[in-house]
Order: sequence, then C-alpha cells, then structure tokens
Amino acid sequence: MLTNHSPLPKLRPIVLVPLIALCSLLAACTAGPTVSNVPSITATASAVASPTRVTRPTATMAPLSTLAPTATAVPTPPSTATPVFADTATIHARSTVPILCYHQVRDWTVDDATVDKAYIMPIKTFAEQMDFLDQQGYHTISPDQLYAYLTTGASLPAKPVLLTFDDGHGSEWTNAVPVLQKHHFQATFFIMTVVLDKPHWLSSDQVKQLDQMGMTIAAHTWDHHRVTRYSGDDWKQQITLPTKELADLTGHPIKYFAYPYGLWNTAAFPYLKDAGFLAAFQLSDKMDPGAPLLTIRRIIASGTWKLQTFQDNLAEDF
Ligand SMILES: [Zn+2]
Repeated sequence: MLTNHSPLPKLRPIVLVPLIALCSLLAACTAGPTVSNVPSITATASAVASPTRVTRPTATMAPLSTLAPTATAVPTPPSTATPVFADTATIHARSTVPILCYHQVRDWTVDDATVDKAYIMPIKTFAEQMDFLDQQGYHTISPDQLYAYLTTGASLPAKPVLLTFDDGHGSEWTNAVPVLQKHHFQATFFIMTVVLDKPHWLSSDQVKQLDQMGMTIAAHTWDHHRVTRYSGDDWKQQITLPTKELADLTGHPIKYFAYPYGLWNTAAFPYLKDAGFLAAFQLSDKMDPGAPLLTIRRIIASGTWKLQTFQDNLAEDF
C-alpha cells in the first residue's frame, strides 16, 4: 500500500560504477557454468524487421454547410484509431524505466563466496528495498505495461519500476513473494525450466500459483546456456521447448525472455521473434539501437548494496 508520497530525498552521486561494470561483464547467475570467459559483445544495428506498424486511420471530416442553417450535425463515429507502433528510435528513447534483476533472496551463509553475494539478497535488505519503494510512491509494473508504453506511448503509473527474478530459486517463493504481496507489488519471474520441481528450486505448482496471483512468468531457457553459442537443435532445446512448457503450465503464451548472463547477439533475434516473444531482457550492456525491444536493459540488484546504493541506482538513467 502507498503510505507516503513525499518526494525523493536528494541522492548522492553513484559510487558503484565498478560494481555495475562487473555485473555487466559477469552478467552471471549463480546457476550454470562459470563466466570467466565471457566473450565481448559488440552491438550492431539489427537487420530484423520491426513489428508491423499500424497506421492510424485518418478521420474524415464531413464538410460543414455554411448555407443551410438548419443542417443537422453529422454524428461523430466512435474512435477506432489504433495506437501507432513507435519506431525503434522512439522505443529506444523511451527505455528509461528502472528494471531491477534479483536472483536468490536469502541470508548469506559461511559457504557463500564474496563474488556470489551480488546474487544473494539478504532477506532484511530486500524488505528494506521494498519498504523504500512503497514509501516513496513507486509503482511496480508488468512487462505488458512496459511494452505498451514503449511501443505505443501508453501511460504508466507515477514512478514505475519493474522487478524481475531470474532462474527460479526456491527462495524467490519463500522469501521474496511474501514481501511482494505485503506491498501489493507485482514482479516478473524468468524461469529456466531444467530446475523445476528440484529441491531448492521453484515447483511447477508454485510457478502456476505465481501466474495466478498476477505475477508474470517468463522464459529463461532450459538450462541457462548463453544464446550467443547456440546452433542447430539448441534453439529448440533452449527456446522452443522450455517456453512451451511454461505456456502449458500457465495456460497462456509466454511473451518475454531474459538472456542467460544477459548475453545476446543479433543472430538470436529471429529465433526469439519466431518463439513469439514481444521483448527480451538483457543486463546492463548497451541496447541495440536497431532492436531496442530485444535488448531491454536491467541492472542486478546486488546483495551487497546499502539502501543508499539502491536509491542511487533507481535514480540512474537506465
Ligand atoms: Zn539466469
């Protein structure tokens, strides 16, 4: 619930640029292979065609008679105008909504390596972050709302923020969802299906329940291999089949995708479009100016952040 609409306090300059850069390089989740040999990604303009543009119908004006004072007014037909689908430059320019990426939400243990703590958000820290969003009047939005805004300029609530959870850790259900529900927040869960129903990971039933409680279920491959190395049957195994599995679980199409480790290349775009995705989310690499919907930026909310760092990153230009 919104309890406080006071303006944001004055924010200190960003101090975690090195961490953000590290996140961008690692772009890692704690599951899956290590990321010591992450290839550098060069964004190139996409040759992929933009989605079909819808042309707004032009209203036809009935000529006004100046000679017949008794002329009856021509009734105005109800508007059938369809919003114009924005061009890529407009979508790129609109892509400033903060999008946070979480992984595990649990307290650290002695076995957690320092480098892993970026992906493990202590429960109390997460609760403080959600309290802050609520108290400052932030509104969590869905990918559908973001997509409508980006492509048609549809309005968003004040201070929008998109919360995303990657991989499908069981702690997302156990420790994050109760906090989200307390604040009536929505979030998006990018699930790699290989872990479903395994100990310490989300169950199929939990994914179903998340969908039914208004969270967005989205795709994150089968076993977290990076798309930049796919060939042959990889596309079917990593994109087509796991996305169908999630669609079967939820009973509706899966429209959004997150790249494992945030790593993407233009070769993946046609496959993602064929899979029916409206948009794909990376991490903090630059967007592809030719395909902004397929390279939407997020930032990893690090478990090591102080609340001030959280505030600073929200205020950053995404
Ligand atoms: Zn991941």
